[in-house]
Amino acid sequence: MKIHADLDLCQGHAVCQAEAPEVFTVPKRGKVEILDPTPGTDARAGVENAVRYCPTQALTLTDGDS
Ligand code: SF4
Repeated sequence: MKIHADLDLCQGHAVCQAEAPEVFTVPKRGKVEILDPTPGTDARAGVENAVRYCPTQALTLTDGDS
């Protein structure tokens, strides 16, 4: 899977960081930084929750080999 963050939409709520701290980090008053844009399957549940619960729907997840 591959993660994309639309920084025009991100408002720094850090829901994603709460759901998958190994993949997302959000600096104070900043926007999301993706630590690992192609995480392994063990991170999938957390990443899916982050995509689902992001209040601005800034995150998208695509499936792929990487
Ligand atoms: S949950 Fe969404 S809006 Fe909040 S920091 Fe993450 S990507 Fe940005």
